[in-house]
Amino acid sequence: MSASPRLSVRIDRKVCVGTSNCAEEAPRAYEMDDHASPHARLDATDDDLLKGAEACPVGAITVVDATTGKQVYP
Ligand code: SF4
Repeated sequence: MSASPRLSVRIDRKVCVGTSNCAEEAPRAYEMDDHASPHARLDATDDDLLKGAEACPVGAITVVDATTGKQVYP
């Protein structure tokens, strides 16, 4: 797998409820800050970005192709 990500994510702060499922399921891709708000890590792989997005119980994470902008998940 390529080390450089092809995907990027948008985290909707109004939808996120701070469960930290994303960071628990994909800790190499997401981390929680001091305010229980998740952030995507810059060195995250595509697989880990998707894995964390799929773990979100409220659908707060949208994954897009960083080149085309096309939505990949959900
Ligand atoms: S899993 Fe979803 S709701 Fe939970 S912290 Fe991550 S983005 Fe927020």
